[in-house]
This record gives sequence, C-alpha cells and structure tokens, in this order.
Amino acid sequence: MSDLTGNTKTNSLKGGSTETDHSKKSTDPAVQQMLEKAAREGIQTVWDRYQAMRPLCRFGETGLCCRHCLQGPCRINPLGREPRVGICGATADVIVIRGLDRAIAAGAAGHSGHAKHLAHTLKKAAEGRAPDYLVKDKEKLHSVARRLGIVTDGRPENEIALDVARAALADFHEKDTPVTWVTSVLPPDRLEVFSRHGLVPAGIDHEIAEVMHRTSMGCDADASNLLLGGLRCALGDLAGCYMATDLSDILFGTPSPVVTECNLGVLKAGAVNVAVHGHNPVLSDIIVLVAKEMEAEARAAGAQGINVVGICCTGNEVLMRHGISPCTHSVSQEMAIITGALDALVVDYQCIQPAVATVAECLGTTVITTMDMAKITGTTHVDFSEETAVENARQILRLAIESFTRRRGKPVEIPAMKKKVFAGFSVEAILSALGRLDAGDPLKPLIDHLTAGNIRGVCLFAGCNNVKVPQDYNFITTARKLLEQDVLVLASGCSAGALMRHGFMDPASVEELCGGGLKAVLTAIGEANGLGGPLPPVLHVGSCVDNSRAAALAVALAGRLGVDLDRLPVVASAAEAMHEKAVSIGAWAVALGLPTHVGVMLPVSGGPLVHRILTEEVKGLTGGYFILEPDPESATEKLLEAINERRAGLGLHY
Ligand code: SF4
Ligand code: SF4
Repeated sequence: MSDLTGNTKTNSLKGGSTETDHSKKSTDPAVQQMLEKAAREGIQTVWDRYQAMRPLCRFGETGLCCRHCLQGPCRINPLGREPRVGICGATADVIVIRGLDRAIAAGAAGHSGHAKHLAHTLKKAAEGRAPDYLVKDKEKLHSVARRLGIVTDGRPENEIALDVARAALADFHEKDTPVTWVTSVLPPDRLEVFSRHGLVPAGIDHEIAEVMHRTSMGCDADASNLLLGGLRCALGDLAGCYMATDLSDILFGTPSPVVTECNLGVLKAGAVNVAVHGHNPVLSDIIVLVAKEMEAEARAAGAQGINVVGICCTGNEVLMRHGISPCTHSVSQEMAIITGALDALVVDYQCIQPAVATVAECLGTTVITTMDMAKITGTTHVDFSEETAVENARQILRLAIESFTRRRGKPVEIPAMKKKVFAGFSVEAILSALGRLDAGDPLKPLIDHLTAGNIRGVCLFAGCNNVKVPQDYNFITTARKLLEQDVLVLASGCSAGALMRHGFMDPASVEELCGGGLKAVLTAIGEANGLGGPLPPVLHVGSCVDNSRAAALAVALAGRLGVDLDRLPVVASAAEAMHEKAVSIGAWAVALGLPTHVGVMLPVSGGPLVHRILTEEVKGLTGGYFILEPDPESATEKLLEAINERRAGLGLHY
C-alpha cells in the first residue's frame, strides 16, 4: 500500500527548506530571493510543507477515495485490481464524479457567499443602516436594474438599490422563476441548450444543497446524471460571480484603466505597510480610503505614511478601482511577510494560508482577521461589520501603526523588483476604448480584426498558482505562445497576478511578446485613446469573480456575430488551478460552450468514463469540454487547435 498512499519519507516539520534550487519552486526572482532568506533563517514555507507531504496519496489524486458515509473510507484500487467498488457498491466513476461535484459546490459556495455578502451590504446601504457605503456607480445601478426588469424611471436611487439587493438575495433560494443572474445575462440560444439538458439553476443555494444531497450515500449513482447536477450547480457559481461583479461595481465603482507597479518591491521600508488579502472589497475598499485620512497619524509615529498593497483577489479589487499595487499572489503570500517589512496582513476570506500566522510570529507582522466565519488561531481579530466599517478600518490601521513602531529600526529585506502594471479592463472600459475607433458600434473593430485574422481568437486565463507547478511557469509559457500567435489574452485572479509580475501587463512588452496582427490592434486602440502606444499585451479583467466580465464580453461578441457561445474562437485556461473555486469556474466555462484547459490534473483520472465525459462527450451537450493537460507546451497547441476549429466553423481562416 505504501506505493498508493505512501508517505514513507521522514520529514521534519520544523525548519526551512532543504531544496536549494528555488527556481524549481517559483519563476519569480523576488520570490526566489525571499526563499533564500527563509532558508537562511529557518522559516518554513508552503514549498517545504509540500515536500514534507510528498508523495501525495494516489487514491486522493485520482479521485478514488470516498468518505461520504461512516462505513468508509473506501478506496478503489487505481491499478485496476481489487477493491473495484466501495463497500456500498459505488463504482470508481461514481466516486470520482461525486467528488468533483462536491468541489464544484464548494467553489460555488465561495463565490456566491461573497456575492451574498455584497447584496447584504447594498441592502443595508439602501436602508441607511451602513452609512459608510453609497452607490458609487449610478449608471451601473440603473443598467443592472433594467436588466433585471426593475423599474428605474423617476425612482429614488436607494429604492432601486434596495430592489436590486432584494432580487440578488432572492436568487439564492428556489423560487417560481430560475436564477435571474443566469437568465438575464446569457443569450436565448444558450438558455435553450440549458433548458434542453436540465441545466437552468433554480436557486444558487438550492443547487449547492442539491449537489450535497445527490452525492450523499445511496443517492445518484449515474456518472452522466451526476455531471449534469454538477454543471447546473456550476451555473449557480456563474450567477454568484456575475452578481459579485455587478454589486461591487455599483458600490465601489466600475473599473477603468489604472497604471501602477507590482511585486514585492512595492513594499516601503519606511512606511506602515498594510497588505489586504482575501477576496471581498467590502472592507479593503474602505481601508484604502481611510488610510489616506490616517497618514498624519502614521507620520506622527515616525513612518513615511501608510502604504496599502494587495495580495490575491481583494488585491485585484483595489488595484482595478484605486491603482493599489499588488505585492504578490496566491502560493507566494508568505513571502510578503518574510521581507520583514509587512506591518499588518489584513484578511477577509478565501485563499489565506493558515500558515501566515506562524510566519508572521517569526517576523513581527500583525495578522488581522476580520470576518466572523474566517478566524485563524494565533492572530488578532477585529469584528468587521458594514454598520461600523470606517471605524473598523481605523482600528485595523491603528494596529498596523503600532506594529510599525515595534518594527522601526529592525532590518528588512525588500527585493528591488517591480513591474509596471496597466490594469482596469472592465467590459465598460474595453467598450469605451474601442468606442474611440467606432463610437457608433464599439464592437465592430474587434469583430473586424477577428474576422480578418489580426486577432486569431481570445483566451481567458483564470485561477490560482499551485505549489505543484513552479510558480507562474505554466502561465507565462502558455501566454507567451498564444500572444505570439495573435491570440488576445484576458486574465483574472492570480493568473493576472502571475502575468503582471512577469511584465505581461506593461505596454512596453507588446513589441517582444505579440504577433504582428495583435500588435497592430493593441497599438491602434492605444493610440486612439491617447496613450501614444499600445495597450498592454494582456488585459487584466479583475478578480476571480470578475471572470464574469470575460463571460459578458463573450456574450456580446456572440450577439454581434449572431452565433451561440460554443461557436466563438474563445477558450479558457486555468493553467495552475488550485482552489475548488477554479473547478467551479472551469465547469461553468464548459457549460457556456468553451474549450477549457486545466493545467493541474483534476482528481478524475481514476474514473475512465468520467474522464471521457469531461474531455469529449460533454461537447455533445454544451459544445464546451475540458482540456486536461499539465504540459503547457501541449496545452498551448490544444488551445490553438480549438481556436482554429472554431474559426473554421465560422468560415474564417488564419
Ligand atoms: S458512500 Fe459507499 S463508497 Fe462512500 S464511504 Fe460509504 S460505503 Fe464507501
Ligand atoms: S485565483 Fe485561486 S488562489 Fe488566487 S485568489 Fe482566486 S481562488 Fe485564490
């Protein structure tokens, strides 16, 4: 059994790295420098814990273990020998797809929980119970309301906002009408495909609960039927993402282009450094505003001011709206602390490694949790609520200033590495930029370039870093080749983080990275918008929930071309996926009809039928399918093949 389960290695859990070639862990030189420091100082990082965990359990890796009842855990032999079924008789395929469905449900719970939080914030703001929030983008409020069928003419703003918030909250439970954040955002052709296959979600929470029900012991035992349940739940996830984007834009503003710098070099030795980490802008947006008014307090404590930086998706939210510099992402989050210069790490929820508490203890960073449902033992908790948002933000920043006074004078090591980032590409911003080429029909230039082959297709990069891949390697390898081949690249979440830290969001990189056709398009748009040069090679569309922006752009393109989404030369790639949320996003991309690459093996290889359904047969249902390919070179070829196939289907050649 040790070859299947087998952690036979003995690894100390104490102390730093024994692997000295840090380029095998991360391609980011700033991260490599911090790993060297961690090794010198005996600080354990995620890469050490990964080594200690290897070899990973083959049952889990292949999806062949089940703990859905107390008779188990059951494990199916991945080598085709006994046991071939669980104690209850569940087959390998049933066990595998039940596991995948539960990952989709967990991902949907994360994104939609984030959206629900924003809906409550908007409701409290509209009712006057959260005075620190207001409707920042009135136009977006009106357009979302109109899309939902809410009357706007002659009505006060807070009434409209209240109706939007109520409509959002109503989408969580089963009701007479299906989820409106699906039916109002997708075209009729796609909805017809969903109706035909029973994929229209009845309620977001309802679908999550139903996945938990149907995957419990003694329920659904048909792999294809289980997949349909998973896809319907994934469409609940799409609704959660889309809703989170809409409500964030209403409350905090719809992003427009911003320019700043990224990577660990944005930390400042003499300032109070505060990193906001997690996902929801409901607190981080307020911290950014309050930090400005507390500059004098920080200076009185001997600091050169307050330097707010971002990590992961809450970092993306404040980058997109305020130009706040991202300092690192995902798997390298501990590195910000290892600099010794981070005074406070303020976290909300999702993707926060609990290990930050231990690393922070070594380096003197104050880790501040803020959400009742996401506390970490050994850290400081400030009980955030929307009713007292500004006061909570002041309390948090005072803790950061105190932390700075304890750090002052101690040595820090901030890698002198930064890259320029040009971000802020909401759909509204993209259409506005295109409008400078054709004010009456902003999509026309994009369609014309797609048709002429100057743009071969579009790829959305999404998802996380994963410790199994040298950090960013898959992203930069795949993106580099696609850009060379004139594929327009959008990026969200930590994939955007990866690409920005390697210069893919600096307009100056267009010359080196882009094929001739794409370079001409990006230059024409940039010059028409007064930039005196091109847009950046990769367009940053926002956080993970903002994958909805890419979906909205695809819907607009499909509408303009008069085809359903599954005919577009548009693909998606989560080249270093880690979180269950990446699985649910991938599943809704497949449901929308997109060829969708995942660069870290999903735990489905133990179910041959499930593997075949996901990579081939689902195409017959939705037009989309998974490309499960860990090798980035092969993945790029497969993505280009998919784009070419779609182009040929539209009668376009490259
Ligand atoms: S549900 Fe079936 S396969 Fe899963 S643990 Fe129980 S008996 Fe085993
Ligand atoms: S991309 Fe992945 S790691 Fe990054 S914030 Fe999103 S879910 Fe977390």
